[in-house]
Amino acid sequence: MIDRSEHEWRCRSCGTLLGVERQGKLHLKYKTAQYVVTGPVTAICRRCSELNEITCAPADAASGRAA
Ligand SMILES: [Zn+2]
Repeated sequence: MIDRSEHEWRCRSCGTLLGVERQGKLHLKYKTAQYVVTGPVTAICRRCSELNEITCAPADAASGRAA
């Protein structure tokens, strides 16, 4: 089975897509650059300058939680 645990991270204020969370990792795109990050992430929305925070836990670190 394919793990489709994908979750869009959107600005809480205006709904602009900030990144996509995939299997415990946050994928961010900026022009041609792509970043894959984990842990606490803060992003400032490019549209409304709202501060958005998320904590992205790696899949193996989340093994103690219910899947
Ligand atoms: Zn925004």
